[in-house]
Amino acid sequence: MSVLTFRGGVHPKEGKELSKSAPIRKVLPGKEVVLALGQHIGAPASPTVAVGDYVLVNGKVGAAQGAVSANIYSPVSGVVKAVEPRMMANGLKVNCVIIENDDKYEKAKDPFKCDGSKNSILNAIKEAGIVGMGGAGFPTHVKLSPKHPKDIEYIVVNGAECEPYLTSDYRRMIESPEVIVEGLNIILSLFENAKGIIAIEDNKMDAIIKMRGYIKNYDRISIKTVYTKYPQGGERTLIKAVTDREINSKMLPADVGCIVNNIDTVCAIYQAVKNNQPLISRIVTVSGDAIKNPCNLEVCVGTSIADIIEEAGGFKGQPEKIISGGPMMGTAIFDINTPVTKGTSAILCFSKDEVAKHEASNCINCGRCVDVCPAHVLPARLALHAEHGNVDEFVKMKGLECCECGCCSYICPAKRNLTQSIKTMRKSVLASKKK
Ligand code: SF4
Ligand code: SF4
Repeated sequence: MSVLTFRGGVHPKEGKELSKSAPIRKVLPGKEVVLALGQHIGAPASPTVAVGDYVLVNGKVGAAQGAVSANIYSPVSGVVKAVEPRMMANGLKVNCVIIENDDKYEKAKDPFKCDGSKNSILNAIKEAGIVGMGGAGFPTHVKLSPKHPKDIEYIVVNGAECEPYLTSDYRRMIESPEVIVEGLNIILSLFENAKGIIAIEDNKMDAIIKMRGYIKNYDRISIKTVYTKYPQGGERTLIKAVTDREINSKMLPADVGCIVNNIDTVCAIYQAVKNNQPLISRIVTVSGDAIKNPCNLEVCVGTSIADIIEEAGGFKGQPEKIISGGPMMGTAIFDINTPVTKGTSAILCFSKDEVAKHEASNCINCGRCVDVCPAHVLPARLALHAEHGNVDEFVKMKGLECCECGCCSYICPAKRNLTQSIKTMRKSVLASKKK
């Protein structure tokens, strides 16, 4: 069995043993459900309900605006209490539809139907409000509508799950391999020249064996084993590992004949196309050393993060750090009384903030940040240019190629926060380019 990989990367403590054996458990939301209208890349959805309206499960509460946007649906039945800005986990305020859950879970009739034709499949994915559920939040129907569909040669399903502690994709592969394979088969029906690849890290051998058993009757689908290393599941690093093709920051995967989708996204596609089911829930890993019972939960979008922490038994003492997503690329949570969104892959609670406890010292020119950088740039030099506001030098030294993976900060013995400096500069350069 060949094990594929990319150049660079790091091996952080995996932490997956905490939750990997916990089967996915469905939890119902509490009394109040907060549905953010902007939980995807692109224009926020526009509310389709008003205060006092009664909504049903699968009822649309937000309509996509423009080409890059996504619909929002209710996971509960109940009355709309408010349409107002609410704080999200990242501290930003976003317009939301707030529903008082009546606990009846009365269902709306199917909001869309799919007859299996290409147009109908794409329409179902669009209508269902599916976005990249690995955290990117890019509307999936746009991703699956490249300019030249005939040039797409590989549909890659990202089962690497390279972020430490995360086990939701692993549980999906163990518990519902048929949904993943069938979801990928649906995507393949849109691209007649494409092959399907499910890429899984070699720390999940049981998932590899299980998935292999389910692809036997699908001759366009194969399983590729990738080396356990962070950021193996990054779009660029995954494409490099499984197809040996390379993209840079100016290119899309489709430019090299590839489309990459996350495991949960593929499952959502299956549900939309086969069951006319809009995206109203997702799998969230709740873990970390400050959580009593680490687990994998199927959670409705709009559920309070505080409620799902309770579902995991609550805290073991006071956590110093709570993160939405993985520890390498996730974002610190400002307030746990904020809602789960379509992009919330994990809630991680740690008793110690490992980053805050180290003070940065001077660079000792050890070169380790260069060795681990999967974008093959010079992180120490880029961070210096970023800190001094040298935009031209930053761009000249390929600062925009950074994928913000965090490997350089992780490995740096001087504990320099290289990623943050580079990330801030990238954001400002990209924003000024847009203007
Ligand atoms: S410079 Fe960017 S891509 Fe390279 S290691 Fe640092 S964060 Fe990752
Ligand atoms: S890893 Fe840290 S100390 Fe080493 S060269 Fe990079 S910035 Fe300097």
